[in-house]
Amino acid sequence: DHTSFEQVMATIKNERIRFVNLEFTDVVGVAKCVTIPVEQFPDCVRHGKWFDGSALENIARVAESDMYLYPDLTTFTTLPGTVRPAPIISTRQQDMQSDDEVVARVICDVREPDGERFEGDPRAALLGAIEEARAMGFKYQVAPELEFFLLQFEDKKPVPLHDDPGSYFDLSTKFTVTIRSEMVHALQSMGIKIEGSHHEVAPGQHEIDFESGDALRMADSLMTAKYVIKAIASQHNLYATFLPKPFYRTNGSGLHIHQQLMSIETGKNVFVDERGEYGLSELGRGFIAGQLAHARSMCAILAPLVNSYKRLVRGYEAPVFVNWGRVNRQALIRVPRPGTDPQASMRIELRCSDPSCNPHLALAVMLRAGLDGIQRKMTLPPAMDENIFLQDESERLRPRARLLPATLGEALDSMREDALIRDVLGDTIYEGFIDAKSIEWTEYRQQVHNWEIERYLPVF
Ligand code: GLN
Ligand code: MG
Ligand code: MG
Ligand code: MG
Repeated sequence: DHTSFEQVMATIKNERIRFVNLEFTDVVGVAKCVTIPVEQFPDCVRHGKWFDGSALENIARVAESDMYLYPDLTTFTTLPGTVRPAPIISTRQQDMQSDDEVVARVICDVREPDGERFEGDPRAALLGAIEEARAMGFKYQVAPELEFFLLQFEDKKPVPLHDDPGSYFDLSTKFTVTIRSEMVHALQSMGIKIEGSHHEVAPGQHEIDFESGDALRMADSLMTAKYVIKAIASQHNLYATFLPKPFYRTNGSGLHIHQQLMSIETGKNVFVDERGEYGLSELGRGFIAGQLAHARSMCAILAPLVNSYKRLVRGYEAPVFVNWGRVNRQALIRVPRPGTDPQASMRIELRCSDPSCNPHLALAVMLRAGLDGIQRKMTLPPAMDENIFLQDESERLRPRARLLPATLGEALDSMREDALIRDVLGDTIYEGFIDAKSIEWTEYRQQVHNWEIERYLPVF
């Protein structure tokens, strides 16, 4: 889908665009942006827009570094009118928020001053993994399920939404349904294809599912979707959060990712073999085996917050073991039953990832882990489809499968031992990510939490 400079300039003129958001993502998944007046745009396309590239490093940032943002014109799109920052309280300023100020967004690649791709750009890491797949004859397609909570404000603090008590797939008549539709509309108008949306298990929790599509485009779309969802929520004086486990004893928010490898030559889904167990091909088995082998070490990328590991516990439909299965809700990887169209419905679903991750890095490590399983012809352990390992007490102490990391600290330790992950991310991101996350983990580890005081102080 080639978009020419002339086409973009025509859109700018027709839609009377005044500002362009040049977007990129830092190593820990925070959306970043430089806003330029539209008059600057042609020069930016030709020569890039200078910025301080150390912004990509998040809290591990030390020195300034001169980098350039180059727009990927295929991602250029107008922000719909419903997608705006939080409303301004003062009426005088509200008057100033003129409807003429149309804003467009474009996703950018980060380049060095000499025009070379900057290896610290998460988008570059994903492009590298996609290139590896292409060399093997495969195209990587994914369909994410994005879960989030809508919260309301009380004394300016976000608290659970009392008036949205629905549960899993409930057909609700609450106002949140309208808000969700507004979000879906906005995403569609930006060229993002939505498969569906529904209420999730917890009050105020919702899910938006994406149609399967090209991995790079999907990572870009996920960053956009998180922004769009937050912006529309704030228009309604609500707060949308992608925090993986906002509330104790309540389901967390995951980002399940359904994956397919398509043959570039035939266009066919290479995971399909109707005679195979579960309708799964040898390539599919190798792909799952690879992701299981690297599961612990890619967890820090897929579930990157201290809080992520509060979600990966028993009893809330989130995975705890390094295992796979077909219907087991505790499985890390699930192979849903293919429907009447196996080409479209045969997917490998990874479930430990959560919406706080950097989607470019997540898809890059997932893809390379799967390809590694294929390249090294790894054998797939048997599926765990029964829940018997939960019924047998001895399994609790010595489970048949390895456990996922229990903390961010453990996940970082595993990541440090995996050469493949380092190769996928490149030294700059690998080291930057581990630095930033180690600071975060150490800070958390040194805190004295409420629980400790309540539990221990009366006793010791
Ligand atoms: N919210 C669950 C999670 O944390 C998933 C629930 C579901 O989609 N079945 O992954
Ligand atoms: Mg779902
Ligand atoms: Mg769900
Ligand atoms: Mg799912």
